[in-house]
Order: sequence, then C-alpha cells, then structure tokens
Amino acid sequence: MSPAHNSSRDTRAATEPAAGYSPAQDELQDIHHRLDELRAMGILVAAAVDGDATPVGAMLSRNSFTHVVSATNDQEVLQALRSSLDFGARPIDMLLLDVAATQFDGHALCRAIRRQPAWRDMPIILIRQRSAWQEDMLPGSFAAGATDILFHPVQRVELIPRVISALLLKKERDICRQHESELETELAERKVMEARLQYLVSHDDLTGLFNRRRLELALEDVIANARARGQTAALLYVDLDQFKVINDLEGHAVGDRLLMSVANILRKHLGAHDILARISSDEYAVLIEDTSEAAAMKRAEALRIAIDEYRFRTEDRNYHVCASIGVALVLPHEDINASEALARSSQACFEAKTHGRNLVHLFNKDDVETNILRHAADWVPRIREALAQDRFCMFFQPVIELPGGRVVGYEALIRMRDNDGTLITPDRFIPVAERMGLIHDIDIWVVQYAIGVLARLPREQSDLTLNVNLSIHAFQDPALLPLVRDNLERNGVAADRITFEITETAAVASYDQTRNMINQLRELGCRFALDDFGTGFSSFNYLKQFPVDYLKIDGSFIRNLLNDPVDQRLVKSMIEVGRTLGKLVVAEFVESAEILALLEEYGVNRAQGHFIGEPLPEILPG
Ligand code: C2E
Ligand code: MG
Ligand code: MG
Repeated sequence: MSPAHNSSRDTRAATEPAAGYSPAQDELQDIHHRLDELRAMGILVAAAVDGDATPVGAMLSRNSFTHVVSATNDQEVLQALRSSLDFGARPIDMLLLDVAATQFDGHALCRAIRRQPAWRDMPIILIRQRSAWQEDMLPGSFAAGATDILFHPVQRVELIPRVISALLLKKERDICRQHESELETELAERKVMEARLQYLVSHDDLTGLFNRRRLELALEDVIANARARGQTAALLYVDLDQFKVINDLEGHAVGDRLLMSVANILRKHLGAHDILARISSDEYAVLIEDTSEAAAMKRAEALRIAIDEYRFRTEDRNYHVCASIGVALVLPHEDINASEALARSSQACFEAKTHGRNLVHLFNKDDVETNILRHAADWVPRIREALAQDRFCMFFQPVIELPGGRVVGYEALIRMRDNDGTLITPDRFIPVAERMGLIHDIDIWVVQYAIGVLARLPREQSDLTLNVNLSIHAFQDPALLPLVRDNLERNGVAADRITFEITETAAVASYDQTRNMINQLRELGCRFALDDFGTGFSSFNYLKQFPVDYLKIDGSFIRNLLNDPVDQRLVKSMIEVGRTLGKLVVAEFVESAEILALLEEYGVNRAQGHFIGEPLPEILPG
C-alpha cells in the first residue's frame, strides 16, 4: 500500500465521529479544517531508525501529517528542539519518543526537556515495549514528564487519535498562553500610559518642571514636615517682569525659549532638596525646606541677580530680563495650608512689582490688609450703589444638548453696570463682595431675577432651564430654601427649571455645612451642577457623595482640547467618571466646531461656549 494511496481516507476512519451521529455539512467542513490545522503542526519522532523508515513516522505521513521530523538519539532530539526555537524556524509541538531503542534514556531525556520553560507544555508520548511489569513503570514515566504512553506494536487506530488529542491540547494551551501574554502586554502598556499621564499631569510640558498642582502637593508635605520637625520652610514666587512684551514682539516660539532659559537658570541655583515648579505662563516657584528667614532672602536675592545678569538673545536683539520675587515663610507653629502659602508668596511678589520690579519682597500680613482695604475702599461703595440703584443685570449663554444641538437652557451670568454705563464682569466684583459681606444681597438678587426671567419666557420656551451661579455662602444660609421656594411658587415656575452651579473647590471645602441645604433644594426639585469640575481634583470617592446631576468640566481643559493630548485624556476620563456615577457631563468654553465635534465623539451630554453662543443680555426667542 503506497502512502499516497489511502492517506485522507485513513485519517477520517481513525478520527471520524461515532456512528449514529451525523453532523451538518458546514460542521463537517469545520472539523476537517481544524484537523488539517492539527496535521500541519510539528511532530518530532525519536526512534532508532530515521524518519519514515520507522513504523510510527510512516503512519503519520500516510495520515497527512505534513511536518514530521526525526531524531535517532538523545543529542539529536535536543538539537532538533533547540533549532525549532530559532527565529523563523517551524516550531515542534510534540514529541513521540520510542524508548524501546537503546539509544534513548527516555526518563532522563523527558526530564531534560521539561526543565526548559519553552518545552514545558509540549506533549511527550513514550512508546515502550510491552512487559510483564509495565504497570509498575508507568508512574515513573509520568513523573519524568511523559504525557501519554503507547506500547509496541503501535497500531494506527490507537496512534492517530492519541496524537490528534495531544496536539489539540497543545494548541489550546498555546492560544491560552498567547491571550495571557497579550493581556500582560496590554496591562504593561496601560501602566506605562498611566505613568506617562501621571507625569504630564504633574509636570509642565514646556520645561519639564513640576506644575502648580504638583507643587501644591509637595508644599503640603513640606508644611507637614515643618510642623513635625519644628523647621522653617520658604516659598519663593518668581515672576518675570518683561515676558509678555518679549512674547508679543518676538512670537511664541521665542517666548517658549525664554521660559526654558529661565527655568535652566533657576535649576542651576537649586539646592539638593529644593523643588522648582512653573506655576503659570511666566511664573515659577522655588520651595526650600529647612531654612531661615535670612537664608531664604539670601537665596531669593541670588536668584534675582542671576536672572538680572542674564541676556536673552534673539536673532537681532538682546533682551535684559529681570524678575520680581515674593518670599513667604512657612513657620513651624503657624497653621497654614498649601494654597494659603502660595497666595502669600504671590501677594509678596505683587508687592515687589508695585515697589518697582526686579526686587525681592518678604510677605507681610500688613501689606495684604492694606491692599484689600485699598481695593475694597474703592469697590464696596460701587457695589453698594449698584445694588441700591438696581444696576446689576444678567447675560445668558445658551447650553445645547449633544447629540443634536438643541438649546435646552441658558447659564445666567451676572454683570454690574458702572455709573458710567460700562459693564463689569463678575471676576472684578464678586471676590470683593464675598470678602466684604455684600455677596448675600447679590445672591438674593440673582435668585429673584433668574426665577423672574423664567416666568416671563413665552409658553413655547417654557421647557428651558436656567443655570444659576450662587456664592458658596448662599448654601450655608438657611434663608435660601424659603427664598427659592417662595419665588418659584409666586412665579409659577417648576423647580426643575433651575440648576444651581456650585464650584468644585467650594463644594469640597464646605460640603459638610452645605449638604443639608443642597439636599433640601433637590427635594424641592432643583438640580445641581458641579462647576469648574477637574480643577479641584476631588477624589472619585468624594465625587460619589456629591448630590449633583451634572459635572461641568472646567473650560481650561476644553480650550486647547484639539492640540493637547493630556487634556484629551483628562476630558475622556472625566466623561467616564460622569458616566460611571450616572451624571450628565457638560463642557464649557467650546470655542470651535472642531472642539464641539470631538466632545460629541467623546460622549459629552451638553455644551456651551463662544462657538455655540456668547453670553447675551437676553434669551433669544426659540
Ligand atoms: P463660570 O460659572 O465658570 O462661567 C463661565 C464663564 O466663562 C463666564 O464668564 C462666561 O462668560 C465665560 N465663557 C463662556 N464661554 C466661553 C468661551 O467659549 N471662552 C471663554 N474664554 N470664556 C467663556 P463670566 O461671565 O465672566 O463669569 C465668570 C465667573 O463668575 C463664573 O464662572 C462664575 O463663577 C462667576 N459668576 C457669574 N455669574 C455669577 C453670579 O450670578 N453669581 C455668582 N456668585 N457668581 C457668578
Ligand atoms: Mg458657572
Ligand atoms: Mg465653569
């Protein structure tokens, strides 16, 4: 019988399903396809005679196994296995080891193979002489690493199914291994990505220095250490005096080069434990641990001189650069947190600037009081007058729903009309009003006005909602609930048309005091949005507790979304957080069609911004 003559029929006879079961045509095809795959796997036949000359090798070839190689002694077996691991070589998937031949020390060879991680899963079928004590020998063979045992004379009907099932097992294990390794790679990649993101989140892209957020974390540590060890620390706030001029004259690329040069100058003057950060475009901070007032002032002066002596060269110009430096001390007995320390150093820097620039100034509480008083003395009467003469007004910015783009509501943004008619934005007067106890009256005006606006809308716009910004003090005032309830009732406005915006930082800082009020207003039907989301970096656990309906991603993450991969990652994860917590996600500062499209693709639920509509003094008819 020639091998070619009965090859495929033979295999089928040996592996055909039991009689009585008749698989469908395509199922049959699938089985044959899988059998062909198994028959293409690599088999090493180790026997005293070469290749097809052994009965086992010949049987395999006759049954269409296409990759059968042979070895005639231990050394050849190991050599064949080793070569199969070479790059580009065909792998060997199983070993048929005929130990009847004296050339093979079957058990020793099995053990040698099992020691190699690459061959640990390879099926090994031992073929041995049938003997009277064969039963006693089986455990030894399996212990050495054999996976199956056949006896001479080997029968085709026995051999082929055993080989097929061994190869099937090997194939399944290989697939499992591959999945495991793919998963490991994916996890490793994700870890690298996360580490990179972590780096980007805490470092400044341009200079590689720590950014503001990372500085704040380091500052918290330093403050705790200062307190525990009775040491003094110092924070130096360095502001370049001419950066904006050079940046405007020479363009951003040159401006960036200047910022990097200054970072390098500061780097050169750092002590081993100092921390250097860039905290805004042209502002740096140096954090010095374990110092004294005199030593910190000396260090600041050295930095000022180093920058003063530096000449910044562009193609055809030479610039003299200098910096104003504010110094704030963190004293061991003082109860101060990171943002207070930063505010103090920035205040001192501001003093250095007002005293003539290119100076170092040490923070002094009296400076601040004088400043606030100076500022307040100017603003308090202006705000009082505006309140008395009803010179506040509201601007309204449309909020659209995504996908679709339907206007679902507006954000109400307060403006103050000065006595010469100019409009003043809230960032100029709200902080003074908050500090000087005038915010209460403004909050009341805002609530009454906003509800009045909703009541006056025509019937076809009666489903529009209004987002209202209130100060954090409002939510600590028990009078807010009756004020809102009475105004809604009197004007016949449904409570769910009002969404109060509460900033993330304020919410975190005073959640315990405001929780009750927020819950009562929500029971009334009002909605809540967490404004400036992302800037406070509240932990996920904290967020879970906030009873808000919307997360409003801060505009600073949206503005450069197209070009900033870090913002893209952050925005995506904020959306994910929102989705997980079952909150709708809003994006503000949408300034272009491209950003809007990207946000829609990410799955943002609402959007507002200059591209969609600028704040206007009235709500446009629907
Ligand atoms: P906010 O609540 O985050 O309001 C968004 C601010 O971004 C508004 O500034 C708005 O005019 C501005 N804006 C909107 N779209 C864009 C855009 O595409 N690009 C840019 N660059 N800006 C955009 P506004 O009106 O000056 O308000 C500033 C902040 O003042 C508000 O921030 C809010 O915290 C506060 N505020 C506004 N109205 C009130 C109010 O009635 N009461 C209180 N207590 N605070 C208010
Ligand atoms: Mg807002
Ligand atoms: Mg906001």
